[in-house]
Amino acid sequence: MKKCISLLSGALLGLSLLSPAAYAAPYTIKQGDTLWKIATANSITVQQLMKLNPSVSEMIYPGQIIQLPDDPNTYTVQPNDTFWKIADKFGISTLTLINANPQISNPDLLNVGDRLHIPAKPSNNPYGTFPLKPGTYKPYTNNYAESRTWSPNGEEIRAHEGVDIFADKGVPVYSVLDGTIINYGWNQYGGWRLTVKVDDSTAFYYAHLSGYAQGIKKGGTVKKGQLIGYVGSTGYGPEGTEGMFDTHLHFGIYKTNVSPWKTVDPYSYLTWWETQR
Ligand SMILES: [Zn+2]
Repeated sequence: MKKCISLLSGALLGLSLLSPAAYAAPYTIKQGDTLWKIATANSITVQQLMKLNPSVSEMIYPGQIIQLPDDPNTYTVQPNDTFWKIADKFGISTLTLINANPQISNPDLLNVGDRLHIPAKPSNNPYGTFPLKPGTYKPYTNNYAESRTWSPNGEEIRAHEGVDIFADKGVPVYSVLDGTIINYGWNQYGGWRLTVKVDDSTAFYYAHLSGYAQGIKKGGTVKKGQLIGYVGSTGYGPEGTEGMFDTHLHFGIYKTNVSPWKTVDPYSYLTWWETQR
């Protein structure tokens, strides 16, 4: 079960974000494609892909045309391309490009027409550090804005306000940037969570922690790269609830200069910070 919510501000995000009309681009299914491979290459989830293609079932076939989000950070492999050549072209490391494309099972075997996700430098806060160390987490996809149903009083559809990075319980979590802790302690959605204000208008949100690092407290400051807590599965209930979903770090970004706070898709930031090691 992979469910997760952070409803920090009470703001609900419009699901029209993934409206097919605004973002769709056609793609022809080729031999060996799966919905997961296609979704991952385009940094969306299978659920989001199905939403863009209501008439497509799980059975896809070569030659079939489906709609994909028109993502400027997607690159289609050309003859004689290698991971090294493509990474060089976009000014990122080969390893970063490989890590951003878990759907390619053998990096030595790129096929013409394969689609790759290219991490791109965000316009603000580009110099963060990824919140988890290399090798401690699983490949992740963009599940921002997916629908989530858990609520304290039963089922209620809302949009996922962050990206989930799956990792084992106890994996250390580090602060992405310098900042001030403005929320600390239990939240019925996010469990043991931390909200860190990193500039005049931005806060980062770390949720479902199994515990906090020593010295972490409300009003305290943290430095970029500082240990702040540990991955867990807390939340979705009264204080102490855990195990309602697989252990992961939920990471969110909020614009705090509006009321209620507005969520920002953190995926492009996360994939970029991975390149900053
Ligand atoms: Zn989440």
